[in-house]
Formats: sequence, C-alpha cells, structure tokens
Amino acid sequence: MNYGHRLEFGTFITPSNQSPQAPVQLAQLSEQLGYDVVTFQDHPYQPAFLDTWTLLTWVAAQTSRVRLSANVHSIPLRTPAVLARAAASLDLLSDGRAELGLGAGGFWDAIEAMGGRRLAPGEAVQALSEAIDVIRALWDVDARGGARVGGEFYRLDGAKRGPAPKHPIPLWIGALKPRMLRLIGEKGDGWLPSLPYLEPGDLKRGNAIIDEAAREAGRDPREIRRLVNLAGRFASSRTGFLQGTSQDWVDDLLPMVVEDGVGTFIVMGDDPRTMQQFAEEVMPALREAVDDALPAGSAGERIRPAAALAARRDGIDYDGVPAALRDTAVEPGDPGYRTARGGYLRGGAPGLVLRPSTTDGVVEALAYARRHPDLPLGVRSGGHGISGRSTNDGGLVIDVGGLNGIEVLDESARLVRVGAGARWADVAAALAPHGWALSSGDYGGVGVGGLATAGGIGYLSRSHGLTIDHLRAAEVVLADGSVVRASETEHPDLFWAVRGAGGNVGIVTSFDFVADEVGDVGWGFLTQVPEDVADYLVRWGSVVENAPRDLTSFLVMGPPRNGQPAVAQSRTVVESDDPEVVVARLQEIASIAPLYDQEVTITSYAGIMQNAAATSHVATGEPLAHSGLVEHLTPEFAAAAAAALTSGAIYFFQLRAVGGAVSDVPADATAYAHRSANFSVTAMGADVRRLGEAWATLQPFFSGLYLSFETDQSPEALAAAFPPATLERLREIKDRYDPTNVFRHNFNVAPSATPAAVAG
Ligand SMILES: Cc1cc2nc3c(=O)[nH]c(=O)nc-3n(C[C@H](O)[C@H](O)[C@H](O)COP(=O)(O)OP(=O)(O)OC[C@H]3O[C@@H](n4cnc5c(N)ncnc54)[C@H](O)[C@@H]3O)c2cc1C
Repeated sequence: MNYGHRLEFGTFITPSNQSPQAPVQLAQLSEQLGYDVVTFQDHPYQPAFLDTWTLLTWVAAQTSRVRLSANVHSIPLRTPAVLARAAASLDLLSDGRAELGLGAGGFWDAIEAMGGRRLAPGEAVQALSEAIDVIRALWDVDARGGARVGGEFYRLDGAKRGPAPKHPIPLWIGALKPRMLRLIGEKGDGWLPSLPYLEPGDLKRGNAIIDEAAREAGRDPREIRRLVNLAGRFASSRTGFLQGTSQDWVDDLLPMVVEDGVGTFIVMGDDPRTMQQFAEEVMPALREAVDDALPAGSAGERIRPAAALAARRDGIDYDGVPAALRDTAVEPGDPGYRTARGGYLRGGAPGLVLRPSTTDGVVEALAYARRHPDLPLGVRSGGHGISGRSTNDGGLVIDVGGLNGIEVLDESARLVRVGAGARWADVAAALAPHGWALSSGDYGGVGVGGLATAGGIGYLSRSHGLTIDHLRAAEVVLADGSVVRASETEHPDLFWAVRGAGGNVGIVTSFDFVADEVGDVGWGFLTQVPEDVADYLVRWGSVVENAPRDLTSFLVMGPPRNGQPAVAQSRTVVESDDPEVVVARLQEIASIAPLYDQEVTITSYAGIMQNAAATSHVATGEPLAHSGLVEHLTPEFAAAAAAALTSGAIYFFQLRAVGGAVSDVPADATAYAHRSANFSVTAMGADVRRLGEAWATLQPFFSGLYLSFETDQSPEALAAAFPPATLERLREIKDRYDPTNVFRHNFNVAPSATPAAVAG
C-alpha cells in the first residue's frame, strides 16, 4: 500500500543544552543538506535539554526554508490551547514552516514531578483526542462564536479563536498502540512511530488499523502521512538492517515506501557525518528507486481530504483542471479558501479559484472557464473591486494576482511594464528610486488590473490625469484565448476599450505605462468641523477647483452622530517639495472651517501609498456604493448632499477632485468618457432602499458615474457610466472581441447579438 505522498526527509536532533548552539547548528546543517524538516525531542522535565519551543522559535529565526516540528510534544505538560497558539504563531513568524508533533506522554514519574497528571493508557487516548479538538477549534477562525470543547481533560469554554496558522499545520502523532492508531485514523494528519520500537510487520498492522479507522470516519487514508524515525549506521559492508553502505540503506528503505507507504524518513542521532551521507547518497538514490518502482514516483500527488471533496460545488469539472494550474487552484474546503474566496469589500463562495502565474496559465484558465459557460466567472487582480464581481457564489474565479512583476522597459522614456496582479503600493515603491510615480488611487492595497482597466482617480489626477492616461500598451488574453497586444497601433479599438471598460473585453495580463517624474510632495491631512456642511462643501469645492493643478484633494465626510457635528477629513497632495508652497495651498483649505487636527509633511508619493496592510482583509458581506460625477459643487448640490448626509442613510461620503489634466484628454479618446467632471462623488450605505432614496436626491446634479465606485449593475447605471456614443462603440468592440459574452459579470456591455438576459 502506498499513500502517494511526496517523499520527504527530516532530522531528529537532541535539544541538549550542554552546548546550546550545537542543536541550532545541526538544524542549519540539515537545511543546507536539503532536508525538508528538522525535529527535536520534547521532554520538558529533562534539565539537560533546552526547552523545545524556545529552541524551535530560535531555529526558525536562524533558518529560512526547512520546516520545524517537535518529535513529539508531551501533551500532559503542554496545554493544547497554548500549544495551538504557539504553533500558529511560529507558523506565522516562519512563513508557514511549523508542523506539530503530538504525543500523549510517557516518563510519568518525571511528568508528575513537574506537576503534570499521570494518564492511564485509556485516558491517554481520550486526552490526546480532546487535545486535537482543542487545537483545531482554536485554529478554525472561520467558525462562528467562541470555541467550545467539552472534554474531560481539556476544555474550551467560548475561547476566542485564532490566530489561524499561515498554512494548514499537520498534526503528526507519535503512537504505537491500537487505540491510539485508531485515533490517528479518525483525526490525525500523520503517524510518527520510531523504527527502533517497531517489530517486523508493525508498520503494516498499524497502517491497517489507521486505514480502517479513517474509512469509518469518512476519510481517505491517503490524508494521513506515514512518517518514521529511523536510526542506523553507515558501514563499508552490511551487518544488519540500516547497518551498511548507502545502497544497503536504500535497499532497506525502499520497501517501506513501496509497500508500507512511508512518506517521510527522519534520521535520528546528532551525527553530522551520518546526516550528510544520508542526504548526499541515500536521499537521491531512494527517490530514484521510488520513481522506478511506483507509477506516480516520489513526487506525490495532492491528496484532498474527504471533507474538502464534500464541499465541492455542482457543475465544475474539478478533475479537468489543467495540470499546470492544479497545484495553486483553491476550492471550498481547501485551507487557502478562507483568503481566496472573497474580496476586500464583498464576500463570496466561488466553487474554484484558478491562480495562473503566467500569460499561458491565464489562457489555460480561460479555456477551462469557457468549458463552464453557465457559471459566473470572476476576473480578479487585487480583489478590491467595489462591485465585488471578482468573486461570486458557486462559479469560477481567475485570479491573476501572481502576475505581479514590475519592470522598467526603457529608462529614458520612463516606460514600465506592470503585471495586472501588482498592488499600487508596490508600484509606487518600485518607481520611487527612479524619481517617478504613476497616479493611481488613494489606497496602496488596490490591484493594478481592476483600477487600470476602469480609470484610476488618484492623488495626482489634477496634475497628471487618470492612470489610464499613462497607458501605452496592454497584453490582453481575449475571450477566444488568443493573446494580443493592444496599443494606439495594434488593436487600437481594443486599446480604447481597455481604458475604461477593460473588464468587458478580456483579461489584461500586463500594462505598459509611461511614469511621470515626481519628486517629494506635500501631504496634508486636515480634520475640520464645519458649522454648515453645505457651505463647507461649496467652499472646499471652489478652493480645489480653482487651485493650481499641483493640488489634488480628497474629502471624506461621515454623518453627524450622537449630537456631534459632521467631521470633514481632507487628504491633499500638493506636488511641490517647497514647504511654503505646500502650506500656502493647504491654508486655502484650512481656512474654510475650524481646524480640529492636522498633519502636514513633505514625503514621497510612495510614502503616501504605503497605507495598506501586506495581506488584505477578506470581506464577508455585500457592499453598497453609489457613484456620481459632477462638474461643480454648486450650492444646490451641496445643500442636497448635506441633507443626504444628515438622513443617516450614508455612512461614508467621499469627494475626489478630478478635472485638471483629466479634462485635457478628449471625451472620446478612451472608454472613460466623463472628462469634464471636476469631482467624483461616492456614498456607501448599509440599506439599499434608504441609500437609494438619499442618492436619488443627488442624481439631478450628476453628469455620469465612475463604475469603480458603483455597485448597481443595472442598465441605467451602465448608461450613466458610458455615454451613448461610448456605449455604442463599446458594443461594436464587444461584438468583435467577445461575441459570446464570456466577460459579462461586471458592468456588462452585452454584445448586440446577445439578448440582454445573458448579461447578469
Ligand atoms: C479601499 C479602496 C480604495 C479605492 N480607492 C480608489 C481611488 O482612489 N481611485 C480609484 O480610481 N479607484 C479606487 N478604488 C476602486 C478600485 O480602483 C476598483 O475597485 C478596482 O477595480 C480595484 O482593482 P482590483 O484589481 O483590486 O480589483 P478586483 O476586485 O480584482 O477587480 C475588479 C474588477 O476589475 C476587473 N478586472 C480585474 N482585473 C482585471 C484584469 N486583469 N483584466 C481585465 N479586467 C480586470 C474585473 O471586472 C473585476 O471584477 C478603491 C477601492 C477600494 C476598495
């Protein structure tokens, strides 16, 4: 019986404190020699040993690749709840390199001497079972409410869950007795016996018990890795089992892989020469021998737990996922699903997320998606889409986040190629050393793909225009799977459409932009408390609209709460590193209303964009946002906006300056057509009807909308996003580039041959 795991190797190091650095050096040697995992015994009652947890964390900081585990933890002295948090913490700190070996104890006199409880054999199984429940419950941050485990030995009584480990930490259990083996079959991820304690035939007998228990628990026995600690001695000729030449070792170990399904061999002893000889001579030869002996070889296949298989969605050909995409694909029940399922603002439950990291991979993913024409298809770059259509319920998502390269193509022309999956914070950071910047948006976590196919209203808009105005070419995977370059001279219609309606015409894999020379800038964050909101809006609008183009300001207002006045927070970039210019410009805004707080600095554009966490928050709800573009903040508009704010239907109200360089571009030059607007207005609310009513009072003032800030996907919203001539041209382009409406799930411009019903 072979369980199809990738063949792995580890070392088993004594955590002796006689020479405290010695075990650390052996761990580093293990990493250098190519071992997969380093393990340490855990005997917390042993004064001659370093504490194993302290050692594990220390070693994690002194290594970079190898995975780390105790071999195995003594549960009676390591409270499982604390162990769960320690392991998750180490996993987060070490970038997913923690594994967890568990044992029910032994050396009972020593454990009792340390205040631990002696467990009878039957009790040990029960205690370990409860420990596993506790650990898994605390890691299960997706479950609702506090964690509860009503055990006899270990209890959780509404404990807060988390942290979630970086990767699914496997629980390897050191055990020999049948009841313990059954527990492994029911709940464990690995069986970790030590060969010196095994009789011939024990592996087979143990496997049979584990496999049967696994099947009875509805699991696939292949979910459980079989690991073995082994001890031996290299010699010039064979004197016994694992006593002989490297080839003798290979001969001894091969049947354990082929017949007993062992997937991990852990070499015991602290002898560097044995570790080296094993790594250099046994590991490669054994892999080769396994490759010859087993059809699947030593690489192993990905084994999906039965629970994950049960979570699969209907209508998806999971077995048909292209081989190149299989390893990185994520589906319900997979550990990575929690972070892959939703976006920054909208929750989702897609049936499959494909994560290609090359253009060819995108082509394959799209071909696969086309074989599922009835399922929703989300195209995701950074996952920050406000309409949230880069995820869905039960459909497919093609996530191009892995195509995130940033490369200077031509220094003298400031031409840069940016992958669709890059984040704007990273783009800004990469351009800063050149003295360049690309106006993007106000948040560094937003992805390039979504923003650069819609417009890009950013902190440099008035001086440098929209992000799409810097686009010179794009690589696009079209609906039929062909890859084209779109520019003013190659597929110019497509190039026009990409700049404002890109989500409708293909999947952009990379963008060629011309960056601007941008030095340090003035950055002002002013908090004001206007007595009269309408008056404030008019005056802020007038200052911003009439300011020199070096100023771009974004204003956020919340509703007045608890009898407190509304607060206005403006974030303003002044493109100058001269403090006098910066202060003079900001003073115009500061003098509009009493200043409650201020922060003014000279900084880089990249510094401003470093405002996002390294990993994105994943939403669970449904966002509700409306967008409008307005020419001027007239007293009438301002009065209506102030009333809408006071209605309480809006919890977030934002005005962004556009105009300036944005208006220099003719309306028909790109699919983003609303070039005459001086302001973009956004409102977010929680109640569709109430927000709709409040928003309706502002509609008469709008000349259109920016689809990146809109969640309403109705034909009216589409007509507001694209004026008639733009929409007509888009439809012609859609007819040519996506006649079957593959890309229809975000503000769909349906091809003329497609009934409107298909759009949705
Ligand atoms: C906190 C926050 C701040 C924001 N600030 C600004 C701002 O200041 N200025 C501004 O203009 N916008 C801003 N936005 C809106 C943002 O630009 C859009 O939501 C944008 O779509 C996000 O891009 P993404 O790649 O992260 O999104 P995703 O959710 O990955 O994609 C959104 C949509 O874009 C399309 N799309 C994504 N990738 C591709 C691709 N490679 N090829 C073709 N189509 C694709 C798809 O239709 C997809 O549904 C902000 C959003 C948030 C959440």
